[in-house]
Amino acid sequence: MKTTERRPSRRARPAEVRVEGQPVSPGVAIGYAAIAHEPAAPAVDTTRRDCDPAHERARLHDAVSRSVAQLVRLHERLSLLPEDGQVEIGSLLEVYRRMLGPSRLRRGIETRLDHGMVAEAAVMQETEALAEFMLAPPGRPAPEGEDAVAARRRAGEFREIGRRLIRNLSGTPYRSFSALPDGAILVAEQIRPADAALIDPSRIAAVVTEEGGSTGHTAILLRALGVPAVLAAHGLLAQLGRRTRLVVNGTTGQVIVRPSTRTAAAARVEVAAYARERQTLGRLRRLPARLSSGEVLTLQANLEIPAELPMIAQSGAAGIGLLRSEFLFMNAETVPDEIQQEAVYQPMITAMAGDPVTIRVVDWGSEKNSDALARAGIGDGGDTNPALGIRGIRLLLQHRTLLETQFAAILRAARAGPVRVMLPLVSSVGELRRAREIYARVGRRLRRKGVEIPDPLPPLGVMIETPAAALMADVMAQEADFFAIGTNDLTMYTLAADRAATDVAALYDPFHPAVLQLVRMTADAALRQRRPVSICGEMASDPLAVPLLVGLGLRSFSMHASAVPRVKRAIRAVSMDDCRRMASRALEAVDGQEVSAMLDTYAASMHPPTDE
Ligand code: PEP
Ligand code: MG
Repeated sequence: MKTTERRPSRRARPAEVRVEGQPVSPGVAIGYAAIAHEPAAPAVDTTRRDCDPAHERARLHDAVSRSVAQLVRLHERLSLLPEDGQVEIGSLLEVYRRMLGPSRLRRGIETRLDHGMVAEAAVMQETEALAEFMLAPPGRPAPEGEDAVAARRRAGEFREIGRRLIRNLSGTPYRSFSALPDGAILVAEQIRPADAALIDPSRIAAVVTEEGGSTGHTAILLRALGVPAVLAAHGLLAQLGRRTRLVVNGTTGQVIVRPSTRTAAAARVEVAAYARERQTLGRLRRLPARLSSGEVLTLQANLEIPAELPMIAQSGAAGIGLLRSEFLFMNAETVPDEIQQEAVYQPMITAMAGDPVTIRVVDWGSEKNSDALARAGIGDGGDTNPALGIRGIRLLLQHRTLLETQFAAILRAARAGPVRVMLPLVSSVGELRRAREIYARVGRRLRRKGVEIPDPLPPLGVMIETPAAALMADVMAQEADFFAIGTNDLTMYTLAADRAATDVAALYDPFHPAVLQLVRMTADAALRQRRPVSICGEMASDPLAVPLLVGLGLRSFSMHASAVPRVKRAIRAVSMDDCRRMASRALEAVDGQEVSAMLDTYAASMHPPTDE
């Protein structure tokens, strides 16, 4: 008998698909997608005006109490999260709790209730009005750049607290991630910051969303939790079926749906390599910043906004080498007074627990803008070439009250720990002299008033960010207590290439030997006059550049906190002789490309130190 063998029907395996999103938290993960849809938002009747205000107020009060209790519970969960996550989420929860207190938001909602609105509608309209106010303040230009990022974040906070209140008013449940399987990749249209607080990084391998972006709270929180994450991966959900496998690369922003056997194997290698890299960088936090030949360097952090403080405290940085005080003036309606500024500096100094904090007085002008100062009639003189106009110390010497107020606030805050005061964009010693006179006068005034301030006054130093300051570094060093080299501006002014303009981006090269010569002259002058010198431009965050800068004579570096471990690893792999060789070859190079090529060759021949 003849048997016909029926071949088992095999459906073709669907091909792998790649979706690009925004990388927001580095790392690679492989796992099955778990889709977490958000329960539908309750419908809100915004037309009613006949509600009993007392009744609606009681309902609001109840929803506020429930919301506060939920935030307290979220807070209690924090101890389960990594340290960075605890700090980030803790401060966000605090913001929400403040909004629920006797705030402008609460007052606005209650006024609407007095007009007979139902509580849900009052909450929705008031939070939306405040969010809109943040995004487009009436009668003022819409915020741009960093200000726009901050405004979007603030608007998001209002909307988030509004949603929480409305859910509590209407008894609509929250989504929960606790039922997701271990090792799952969480996929959603959107993750809100408060949702991020519910993610357990030991159970969730990665997070991908279709909406969102790299600068919002959610992105910050995911980074703090250390979960690889890609946001704004448009079209991903449509690609997913039941038990769909994904590879998520939070470093490149790529999500691979149904990876082939070969892609999955390559991803597993990357997952293992990334885990090793994290372990190494984690260990580095506790190791000294020492060259392989034994010399110890100082690595500090730059601070741009207060939210970076927790990251700085945990980065292994030995203090703040550049506190850019511009944030104080950016989102403010008025110029903060002495006491208000002191209240900002003091906790930062305290948080650094004895490590020094270098506060730069406001560097307003050029590409940096401030509403508060513009309203007070300070700055923006309409120069055709603002980078060469009234900015930095020039502006402060024209508006002395501003400088006096800031000096006084810093001196008051200096009771909390070691502080240094720094002047931006100095181009002649006369500017330093005039600023020092004001500094001394402010000190005397405070003492007369009985305010306790350090004696002698904290060091007053200058940023070296113009060729003039570098060329006159010997003279400057006789009167400045310290130098900080700002290579961002120094490169711009040396090469006559705008740091913010894309059409001259190729000309803007901090490795240009002309810039390196000025760095070396500054370091030499500081050494001759025994003045501390550090470098705080972007170059100091570059693990390739730092050994070269050591060779040019620098021993102290201030950088973005996230760069501290990588820079530490780079310097632990080189000796002083290596650094000096790099520096002398760089100074002989004809252009920046030759220097970059030389550094790439050095880096390729370097081995990580054996003790990591
Ligand atoms: C610099 O110019 O290198 C610097 C650190 O200052 P800023 O980037 O704030 O101008
Ligand atoms: Mg500068």
